Amino acid sequence: MSPKSSPTKKIKWLIIGAGPTGIGAAHRLSKLSENDFLVLEKSNQIGGLATSYRDDKGFVWDIGGHVQFSHYEYFDQAMLEALPKEQWYHHQRESWVWIKERFVPYPFQNNIHRLDPADCQNCLQGLRDKNKKRGPENFKEWLSQSFGEELCRIFMHPYNYKVWAYYPEELSYSWIGERVAEVDLEKIEQNIKLSRDDVSWGPNSTFQFPKLGGTGAIWQGLADKIGQNQFQLQTCVEKIDSQKKLAYTDSGVIEYQHLLSTMPLDLFCQKIEGLPSTTIETAKKLKHSSSHIFGIGLEGKLPAQLEGKCWMYFPEENCPFYRVTVFSHYSPQNVPGENYFSLMAEVSESPQKPVDKQKLMDQVIEGLQKTKLIDLKKQQIVSKWQFHAAYGYPTPSLERDQILNSVQPELEKRQLFSRGRFGAWKYEVSNQDHSFMQGVEWVDQMVHNKKEKTYYGID
Ligand SMILES: Cc1cc2nc3c(=O)[nH]c(=O)nc-3n(C[C@H](O)[C@H](O)[C@H](O)COP(=O)(O)OP(=O)(O)OC[C@H]3O[C@@H](n4cnc5c(N)ncnc54)[C@H](O)[C@@H]3O)c2cc1C
Repeated sequence: MSPKSSPTKKIKWLIIGAGPTGIGAAHRLSKLSENDFLVLEKSNQIGGLATSYRDDKGFVWDIGGHVQFSHYEYFDQAMLEALPKEQWYHHQRESWVWIKERFVPYPFQNNIHRLDPADCQNCLQGLRDKNKKRGPENFKEWLSQSFGEELCRIFMHPYNYKVWAYYPEELSYSWIGERVAEVDLEKIEQNIKLSRDDVSWGPNSTFQFPKLGGTGAIWQGLADKIGQNQFQLQTCVEKIDSQKKLAYTDSGVIEYQHLLSTMPLDLFCQKIEGLPSTTIETAKKLKHSSSHIFGIGLEGKLPAQLEGKCWMYFPEENCPFYRVTVFSHYSPQNVPGENYFSLMAEVSESPQKPVDKQKLMDQVIEGLQKTKLIDLKKQQIVSKWQFHAAYGYPTPSLERDQILNSVQPELEKRQLFSRGRFGAWKYEVSNQDHSFMQGVEWVDQMVHNKKEKTYYGID
C-alpha cells in the first residue's frame, strides 16, 4: 500500500475506513470507472473487524469466528474476485450449546430432548404455555413470549446477556428477522418423540471460508484487485470541515467532493466541525459492547467431543465466554501442522458487564477445562493470542432508532454519510455481506440516485 500522503490533495470520493463497507464502496466505484477515490485507513491493515492475524507460532486468528455467507449476488461475485473458487472451503454449519454438562445441538429449542427428562418436559410445558396476549415491549418479553419461561430461564436470558453484555429487557427485538430460529411446536414435539437431532438451521446452514490466511485474506484479496494505490493505510481522519469539504488527517488535508465514513458513528460526530453539541451528545447515547477474542493454539489430538463442531454457545456461569469456535476446522492452514488444533473464545464487555482484563486469559483457559473442551493432561497449549475490539457489537438498545433518526439527518444535511457495522449502527445489517453492500449501495445512491436497500432495511 502507498505511504502516507503529502498534505492537501483533491479527491472526488473520500472513504474513511478499509473494512468491508469501505471496500464495498471502493469496489463499486471502480466498477463504475469512477476512479478518483481514496480509502483512508488508520490501522496498518486492510479489513477492519474482518481482518486476520498469524501469530509467531503459525496459528491464524480472526477477530472472532467469522463465517462467510451471503444474501446478495453482487457480494457472491465479489467474493470470487477476491479469491478464486479453488481457494475456498465450503462447510456445513454445526453449532451446539454446552449446558448442564452436555452438548445440545443448536437451535436449542428444537433439541430439548437432549436434556434430562424433567428439564425437557419443563421446557416443553413453557413452550406450550407461552403467552402472546400483548405485543412484547423489549427483547426479554419477546423471548419469553416466543420460547416460554423455562427455556428462557436456562438458556435464552443468560446466553443473551453474555453475548450482548446488556440485559435483554434493555434491548429491542426489531433486529431479529432471520437471526433467531422461531418455534415450531409440532416439530419440537416430534423431535422429542423420536429423540431426533435437528442441527442445520438458518441463513448460514452452509458457509464458506478461505483456505489460506483467514477471513482477512478475502478483504486483502479484494483490495489488491481494486488497486493498492486506492488505499492509504496508517492515516487517521481527525477532523471534517463539511462546509469547505476538507478532511484533516494526521498526515495532511484532503479536499473531497463526496464523503463516506465507516468509523463508529458516535466518534465520527465528534470529528465534524460545527455539528450541534446536542447531536454529538445524542450520538454518544448509542450503546455498544466490546469484544475480547482469545486464540488458544493446542498441540495434541482433537478431543472426540469437538469432532465436526464449528462453534459452541455457553450460557452458564462456569466460563466467561459466550462462544467458542473450533477454528482449525475452518481450514487446516489455520494451524501450524497436523497434530494441532485451535479454539477461539469470545467474551463481551460493557459498562453493565465489566471484565477483569488482566485475569481474562486465565479465566478463559480455566473455562475451556471446566466445560470439558480441553484436557491439559492430553493436550498442550502452545500459543495464546489475544485481541480487544473496543467496538465489537452495535447494541440494538431500546432508544437506538430514535437516536439514529435524529443524528443521521443532521449529517446528511451536511452531505456526510455514515454506513457500515458501526457507521449505521444497525446490528441487523452489520455482517460482512450487509456491510459490503451498504458501501456498494451508497455509491449507487450517489451516482444513480438508486435507493439504498440494506441500510434502509428494504427487501
Ligand atoms: C466478534 C465478531 C464476530 C463476527 N462474526 C461475523 C461473522 O461470523 N460473519 C460476518 O459476516 N460478520 C461477522 N462479524 C462482523 C464483521 O466483522 C463486520 O461485518 C465488518 O467488519 C464490518 O465492516 P465495516 O467496514 O462496516 O466496519 P469495520 O470492519 O469496523 O471497519 C471500519 C474501519 O474504519 C477504520 N477507522 C476507524 N476510525 C478511523 C479514522 N478516524 N480514520 C481512518 N480509519 C478509521 C477502522 O480502523 C476500521 O478498519 C463479526 C464481528 C465481530 C466483532
